[in-house]
Amino acid sequence: MKLKHVNKSFGSNQVLTDINLEIPAGQVTVLVGPSGSGKSTILRSLNLLEQPESGHYEFDEHLQIDFSQPLSKKDLLYLRQNTGMVFQDYNLFSHLNILDNITAAPRHVLKQSKAAAEATAKKLLAKVNLADKAQSLPDQLSGGQAQRVAIARALAMNPKFILLDEPTSALDPELEAEVLKVLLQLAKEKQSLVIVTHNLAFAQAVADKIIFVEAGQILYDGPGTAFFSEENQHPRIKRFISSMT
Ligand code: ADP
Ligand code: MG
Repeated sequence: MKLKHVNKSFGSNQVLTDINLEIPAGQVTVLVGPSGSGKSTILRSLNLLEQPESGHYEFDEHLQIDFSQPLSKKDLLYLRQNTGMVFQDYNLFSHLNILDNITAAPRHVLKQSKAAAEATAKKLLAKVNLADKAQSLPDQLSGGQAQRVAIARALAMNPKFILLDEPTSALDPELEAEVLKVLLQLAKEKQSLVIVTHNLAFAQAVADKIIFVEAGQILYDGPGTAFFSEENQHPRIKRFISSMT
């Protein structure tokens, strides 16, 4: 997917200025940058939780959007089905057990049968190492387990891209490690991922591509290797990395 010349303001506060970026399929793209720089707004624009006021979005060969125009319901549905979102605070349905959390959208949006949706959900729970939690309620899980359920729930829609906004920043290091392990496995399987994170060690391990955002602009867009390599570093990136480590 691609954003071209995208601008987004909240009232008089312009938070994204002429954003141009490309997020390749089959790779891991990591967005990094200081708090308040616009990372979440970029991610939320990618699945239209926010609509920028101008610019273009080329999602895939089927869907191109001009942000200055009203969005059709059909386009919004296509986009939502093809971008799974994982939030910092999991956002599980608290009154549904884990299996029902994962099967709700496949059954009601994709119209899968209960049996088919449950068969897929059980495979995905095994994949995120939670095969024994199908009947549990969200508040019976640790944060790390809840976040892995949220990842399984996103995968159940079989979206083209999964977008994760600081998926581990609410977690203790031990629980964070369980989640990062699942994400590394998905990366190995060439699942397209877009991850906002402050964990630079993880970013370095997983990113095919890094996008560094500051004050609503992109200061770096390129391979993870070059981002972390000392000799290629822009002074601002050097300062950011040393402030984080
Ligand atoms: P980041 O994720 O990099 O911390 P955000 O994208 O959340 O940054 O925020 C970028 C800027 O936009 C911040 O100044 C923030 O206060 C502002 N902002 C984000 N969401 C809203 C909103 N819904 N209403 C008003 N201002 C917002
Ligand atoms: Mg954010």
